[in-house]
Amino acid sequence: MKILHITPELAPWSKAGGLGDAAAALAKALGSLGHEVRAVTPLYGSVPGRESMSVLLNSLRVGVGGPPEKAACRVMSLHVAKNFEAWFIEHEDYYGAKEIYPARPDSAERAAFYARAALDACLATGWIPDVIHCHDWTAGLVPPLLNTVLKDSPLGGAASVISIHNLQHQGVSHRGIMDFLGLPGWLWQPSELECLGGVNFLKGGILHAKRVITVSPTYALEILTPQFGHGLEDVVRRRESALEGILNGVDLDEWNPRTDRLIPAHYSPRSMKGKEECRLALAREFGLRDDPGAPPIFGVISRLWDQKGLDLAAAALPAFLREGRLRFVLLGSGDSALEGAFRALAAGFPTLCGVRIGYDHGLSHRIEAGSDFFLMPSRFEPCGLNQMYSMTYGTPPIVRATGGLADTVRPWSPGSKDATGIVFEHADLQGVEWAISRALELHADPKAYRQVQLNGMRAEFSWARSAQAHVEAYRKAGAAL
Ligand code: ADP
Repeated sequence: MKILHITPELAPWSKAGGLGDAAAALAKALGSLGHEVRAVTPLYGSVPGRESMSVLLNSLRVGVGGPPEKAACRVMSLHVAKNFEAWFIEHEDYYGAKEIYPARPDSAERAAFYARAALDACLATGWIPDVIHCHDWTAGLVPPLLNTVLKDSPLGGAASVISIHNLQHQGVSHRGIMDFLGLPGWLWQPSELECLGGVNFLKGGILHAKRVITVSPTYALEILTPQFGHGLEDVVRRRESALEGILNGVDLDEWNPRTDRLIPAHYSPRSMKGKEECRLALAREFGLRDDPGAPPIFGVISRLWDQKGLDLAAAALPAFLREGRLRFVLLGSGDSALEGAFRALAAGFPTLCGVRIGYDHGLSHRIEAGSDFFLMPSRFEPCGLNQMYSMTYGTPPIVRATGGLADTVRPWSPGSKDATGIVFEHADLQGVEWAISRALELHADPKAYRQVQLNGMRAEFSWARSAQAHVEAYRKAGAAL
């Protein structure tokens, strides 16, 4: 199959969260299954390694409105892995800045432009995909384009699929975006793209794609309900028969304690000594207690938004820190009040708590490897990658039973044999306190703790399995044409 991915993030060139990792790893895994894969993404100002890219199209005229000089771009190409090429859309005005999602008045045009450019690049090169896989809202207007404006073009025969990595971000813009893309006026109605007086990109994708994929089976059920549907539950319900959940995986070339070049020592289920070195190094990096009797380290790497439930962690932790029962390290950024709360926590408990506000890829690996537990008290979590990374690194995750967290972590209780982490039900202070206490109880029993660590390290989160499930979904999408 020829498979085109249209994605706003592609790791390692651009990544704001799990989408960047997932899109790149899926494309790679599909390539190694023998499919011919292209992933199209913007060339942001922050993308490294331009010198190794080659020019695919020097000046591509993109089918959008607005001033003609703004409607052209250059397309760069890079061979990434077997059967997998990345195409980068270069457009100084739209993507020259470093940020992936800057708050700008033209963010709808930025999204629409690269997605339409992806389609025009296929038409211009004659590389016509069988499947067009759109990721999240920025690519959401591609399926409506394929069903209308491009219906009679060579791309009209491609099967469109949309992945919802997070239903919260929908991309609601002004009506003018339809003229910008040349979409027909009849799509402007509440049963189509219109939503609360604007055009909803993700709604368009959900309604028009042949298949709708979410990144875990539990999230696929959750988004049918008002609690998780973010106002689109009725729209999702209309597509229930085309909806399915497929878990993301772990890219073992990137996240593997046996080979990871970003951690101070390697280890595996057979020899865990390296993990102790990683823990010691992490404690020292954050200036924490590192004596043999020091309590376990609880780690967090996260965007600091309401979704992630870390306000609950910030409220629960002081009592444990006051009693010296745990050490805590956090890497993240986002909500300034939450950033401030964690900074204050570190200032209050300098030998037990360390906080880095910002984005740091290397440190994220060192936290996965050096922590004893990984805390993820999310209110909702479409899939979540960090809990799978942490299991791979022998760091049992503490998660709330929602979305992909519920699908990937097997809960520990005294005496259980196959557990891989701590799972709690309620997104409230008592829930998080209970879960942390439970983790400490597990840690106090070294044999049980080791068992949970090893179960997690041996769990199977392969991208090959996920890619295979995507291929099945692509076949169904093709059959739906
Ligand atoms: P989400 O996509 O909702 O942010 P995921 O758990 O699916 O959550 O993926 C988050 C990814 O982003 C992980 O690979 C995580 O390590 C990474 N990440 C998040 N915040 C940071 C940060 N501040 N520094 C480095 N990596 C981060």
